[in-house]
Amino acid sequence: MNIFIFSDNATLLPEMLGGANELVGTSGGSIAAIIIGSESEAMSAASMGADKVYWLGQIGNRIIDDFVPTLNKLIMTEKPAAFLVAATTRGKAVAGRVAAALDMAAIVNAKEIKVVDGSFQVRHIILGGAVIRVEQPLGGTLITTVRSGVFTKAVADTSRSDQLEHVEFVEPVTQITKLESKPKKSNASNIGAAKIVVGAGRGFTTKEDLGLARGLADALGGEVGYSRPVTEGNPPFAEGEPYIGVSGIQLKPELYIAVGISGQTQHMVGVNESRVIVCINKDPRAPIFRYSDYGIAGDLYEIVPELTQALNKK
Ligand SMILES: Cc1cc2nc3c(=O)[nH]c(=O)nc-3n(C[C@H](O)[C@H](O)[C@H](O)COP(=O)(O)OP(=O)(O)OC[C@H]3O[C@@H](n4cnc5c(N)ncnc54)[C@H](O)[C@@H]3O)c2cc1C
Repeated sequence: MNIFIFSDNATLLPEMLGGANELVGTSGGSIAAIIIGSESEAMSAASMGADKVYWLGQIGNRIIDDFVPTLNKLIMTEKPAAFLVAATTRGKAVAGRVAAALDMAAIVNAKEIKVVDGSFQVRHIILGGAVIRVEQPLGGTLITTVRSGVFTKAVADTSRSDQLEHVEFVEPVTQITKLESKPKKSNASNIGAAKIVVGAGRGFTTKEDLGLARGLADALGGEVGYSRPVTEGNPPFAEGEPYIGVSGIQLKPELYIAVGISGQTQHMVGVNESRVIVCINKDPRAPIFRYSDYGIAGDLYEIVPELTQALNKK
């Protein structure tokens, strides 16, 4: 079973390749990474287990969507058993457009992919996180986007030899002209890798108060994540920061502390695989208590400073 992987975000390549390595390990076959980026990014894919690297060159003045005809041609020619795409905003658009062009279906937001009876089986979230659907494509290429955190990262081994193939760019029929690009505004650290995450929700009544969540996270050596209304509400308290949940990022920390978060399904989908969940909420009937291993019913404005102080004294 030959697997193609693609990520427009280079930081997600190690986990995409880690997942492909696992699948090939159980089913046999080979891995090809499709890279848009620098030659060194293409080479690093080989060091993480890609048997072949299709290098589409630098993005330059193009946008990722312009590469869809090139990807279509590659997939139609090589007919991989699976085309796994990192579920970034652009990745989802690419998967959908490639699937449409090839008259196939794209599965989105895979939570788990395994090989059952010689074919892929994909578990993915539907209905805003309320239901997990299991699908087993009957043939052709499996096209699916994969959420960050699903696969374990591959470890680079520079002794691995690569096979780099420069793929000719296929001009799209209609092109979008990129006028400007700006780095996304974010203070976010590497929350995906954090072992301890403090989640801050709408229980915080001002932007400045989020400093309490940061103080608790610092005392524990962890990071801060948010519920969606905190980053996208009106006004947003943490604008541009990634939020946790079905439409945001999904995490598997050792410890998740939900502070002032009610525990709606759409949020919990992003953290329900945490090893231990603790909540602090003033409403003892809030759904978050049902998901938590430990719960503190009380006012975060009293509990968080006390907890932080006690931890800092240690
Ligand atoms: C299609 C769809 C997708 C969505 N995707 C996401 C997603 O990816 N991520 C996400 O987070 N949300 C998502 N949402 C929104 C989600 O449904 C909830 O509205 C949201 O998660 C609620 O955020 P919250 O818990 O911070 O706020 P609330 O639900 O308002 O909860 C605030 C909590 O704080 C408690 N509280 C208040 N004051 C204090 C205090 N002083 N001390 C202690 N506790 C206090 C309250 O008791 C309450 O339980 C989505 C919704 C839809 C429809």
